[in-house]
Amino acid sequence: MDIATTPPTERRKIALAAVKELGPQRTEKAITKVRCPKGHTLAAVYPTTAGKVIVSRSGPGGRGSRDREATPHNGTSLNSEFVDTLEATQFEDDAVPSGCACGPRTLSRKKIQDAVDTHEHVVTLT
Ligand SMILES: [Zn+2]
Repeated sequence: MDIATTPPTERRKIALAAVKELGPQRTEKAITKVRCPKGHTLAAVYPTTAGKVIVSRSGPGGRGSRDREATPHNGTSLNSEFVDTLEATQFEDDAVPSGCACGPRTLSRKKIQDAVDTHEHVVTLT
């Protein structure tokens, strides 16, 4: 996929399909995870056939104070998540919508890219 010439909506569809290919155990494959100060996972980056993809929880989820990564996901859980390739065109907003039980948050795509580039496995927000 050529990120520069692929429309964002199309790119997100490709990213979503690629993440689904990873299957239910995908959380084990995450390169980088973004967590809130309480340790909830806000977003994760996965290596896929479409390149590195961000999966971000959009909006507070009723998952309680313990974010159980091991809970099996069914295919539909991705519908409430923001899925996009890590790389985007320069014309796009840096903001990635996210959230956890603490409330909504906006993540910076650039910061997540930096974390992946520096092999930071877990990014904890302040
Ligand atoms: Zn939280």
